Amino acid sequence: MDLGLAGRVAIITGGARGIGLAHARALGMEGVSIVLNDRDIDAAAHAVEVLSAAGIDARCHAGDATDPAVVGKTVTFTLEEFGRLDILVNNAGIGVKPAAQVEEMPLDDWQRMLHVHLDSTFLWSRAAVDPMRRNGYGRIINTSSMNFTGGGRPGVAHYSTAKAGIVGLTQTMAKEVGRFGLTVNAIAPGYVATELISQFSPDMIERLQKQNPIGRLCQPEEVAALVTFLSSNQAGFINGELICMDGGRRDFYWG
Ligand code: NDP
Repeated sequence: MDLGLAGRVAIITGGARGIGLAHARALGMEGVSIVLNDRDIDAAAHAVEVLSAAGIDARCHAGDATDPAVVGKTVTFTLEEFGRLDILVNNAGIGVKPAAQVEEMPLDDWQRMLHVHLDSTFLWSRAAVDPMRRNGYGRIINTSSMNFTGGGRPGVAHYSTAKAGIVGLTQTMAKEVGRFGLTVNAIAPGYVATELISQFSPDMIERLQKQNPIGRLCQPEEVAALVTFLSSNQAGFINGELICMDGGRRDFYWG
């Protein structure tokens, strides 16, 4: 299927590694020009080298995805470099630790989690609307998680709540901007084989895999394939959706 993505321009937050880098590779292979955001400048520059070696038109504009100044400068950089912005993948995120039951959770941990995931998704989405509306085409794809779709997981209320908030933002924005040719959707992956889950013990990862009907972790490339389709013209009537990608089970038991 020709996804018609050649010539499009995408910003991917937290794109230096893991799922974000897989998005960059998958979209880049479809002819999309990529601007990577990541707070790790060296890792972002290295990712651009790797993508460029594969023939992908990629640049990075590093900085903290939660900083409104970084958001504004990256969008300006993208428009100066490429003249347009068509796709935004809000991917930047951190793992669930430090984890705690609500009654013991420090306010700082709670706020940090909401800030990194939810505030950044709001900031980038807000900044992307105007340039996308000028194209008459836009695809915003936000990253929720099975930690929310599984119905809330004890000990990680900060992460589950941030990922729930992202769905509320997605559904609301979808109704606000759909008539301009923009769609806003969210994905909810299960456990994906990236550094983010290296905070879990090998024993726990083994147990998580055993509980999954498919019996393994999701691969970053599988998430990227979904995001690539959602970025395409063909996905133009999918709007305001939360698409789960968890192998068929999301009520994991951590104990
Ligand atoms: P990784 O930790 O592998 O990659 C995340 C990237 O985002 C890192 O390069 C990280 O940089 C960067 N990042 C984090 N915070 C910021 C910030 N404030 N500004 C800029 N960059 C930032 O994670 P994944 O690829 O696994 O996760 C990507 C997304 O997918 C996250 O939103 C995560 O919550 C979500 N997700 C992941 C799942 C999984 O099982 N892996 C399952 C479901 C959802 P740094 O190295 O500095 O931290």
